[in-house]
Amino acid sequence: MVAAPAIVQDRRVAPQTARGPKRITLLGATGSIGRSTIDVVMEQRGRFSIETVAANSNAAKLAEIARTVGARLAVVADPGGYAVLKAELSGTGIVAEAGPAAVEAAAAAPADLVVAAIVGAAGLAPTLAAIRAGRDVALANKESLVSAGSLFIRWAREAGVHVLPVDSEHNAVFQTLEQRNAAEIEKIVLTASGGPFRDRNKWPLSALATARPADALKHPNWSMGPKVSIDSATMMNKGLEVIEAHHLFSVPPERLEVLVHAQSVVHGIVAYSDGSMIAQLSTPDMRVPIAYCLDWPDRQPTRANRLDLAALGALTFEKPDLERFPALRIARAALDLGDWATNILNAANEVAVSAYLGGAIGFLEIARVAEETLEVAAGRNWAEPDSVEAALALDAEGRRIAGSLIGQD
Ligand code: NAD
Ligand code: MG
Repeated sequence: MVAAPAIVQDRRVAPQTARGPKRITLLGATGSIGRSTIDVVMEQRGRFSIETVAANSNAAKLAEIARTVGARLAVVADPGGYAVLKAELSGTGIVAEAGPAAVEAAAAAPADLVVAAIVGAAGLAPTLAAIRAGRDVALANKESLVSAGSLFIRWAREAGVHVLPVDSEHNAVFQTLEQRNAAEIEKIVLTASGGPFRDRNKWPLSALATARPADALKHPNWSMGPKVSIDSATMMNKGLEVIEAHHLFSVPPERLEVLVHAQSVVHGIVAYSDGSMIAQLSTPDMRVPIAYCLDWPDRQPTRANRLDLAALGALTFEKPDLERFPALRIARAALDLGDWATNILNAANEVAVSAYLGGAIGFLEIARVAEETLEVAAGRNWAEPDSVEAALALDAEGRRIAGSLIGQD
């Protein structure tokens, strides 16, 4: 049976009505989601204030962002970026810090909402630190749910925090699920654009084998960071999203359907027991789901382009082709095995994606590395990750196995 949306227990008065702007911590400020978040906030300056920004290594860009948004604290994960960050922020009154521990501390520090937009398993420790500290989280970093979903949700429930999904499909489902009786829900449909290689005539399997990163990065509908763009091309992204939805909405895998919808207009659909389907539609613009998370339970105006359904004319839906896109099948298999397996799958995928972007393996090898890593790992007994350290140890093991399969060890 489908349970209630797991971690959004109740609607409540947004904090800014009580005491000034909603204070936001933005993890992954220099990325694609970071940029869209800043855009939404700058539109509504008086209502939100980004007080803390964190990023991986581009200290100059981070400093520029910190100055633009008027942050109080900027944290660069790479300790090597500290000198530049400090120099760029000198005289501004903005505090500069560096190192992974400083990112975690910043994630846990007082804020009304932490936007978790770090890419990859690197986001796990900071996101969980925010949750443990009782911070509401707007979650873009799906990999943290894929790496340790049960632990994540358990801690979120224990801390009584709200986890608001930024991922467009999950945000769509969240919007349509609100205020519904969970027992009425029959299934959830996540749509997938099908990525740049959806067209089997233009991209037969033989062409996929030699597809270059430049082609794979050319997403037809969305403008996103490189990792999630490649995940979209392999459709591993949709596999990760099935796992994400399973944890977020407490939905068994067999009630989670994926449909390829090339226009990326319908983002998610909830099917109810009376035969009704309720969907959320918008132009493919991450500012829409981000704005919904920032202002939930209210809505705010955004600059996103409006849908012109008459101009679109038709919306199409088809079942995914699991032969051309095996990653979706592999992710579902990992979900059936448990959190240890989705963790290792995620790690292997991150290694394979970066190997592909670096020219070390071909496009079709990405899913193959993920699957073979899982096969190797399945030969051993793994405990389900019950701490951040355990999740990171599994992640390291997944990376080691994938690296040795690629010949990078
Ligand atoms: P991106 O590559 O554009 O940006 C990633 C950000 O994470 C950067 O700011 C980078 O500095 C930061 N980062 C990386 N490692 C870090 C570390 N160790 N410590 C601190 N910061 C670190 O990625 P993106 O496209 O913005 O995606 C971010 C997350 O959102 C991913 O999990 C992705 O799957 C998810 N997501 C993105 C989109 C999108 O439209 N871009 C849509 C849905 C979900
Ligand atoms: Mg998505």
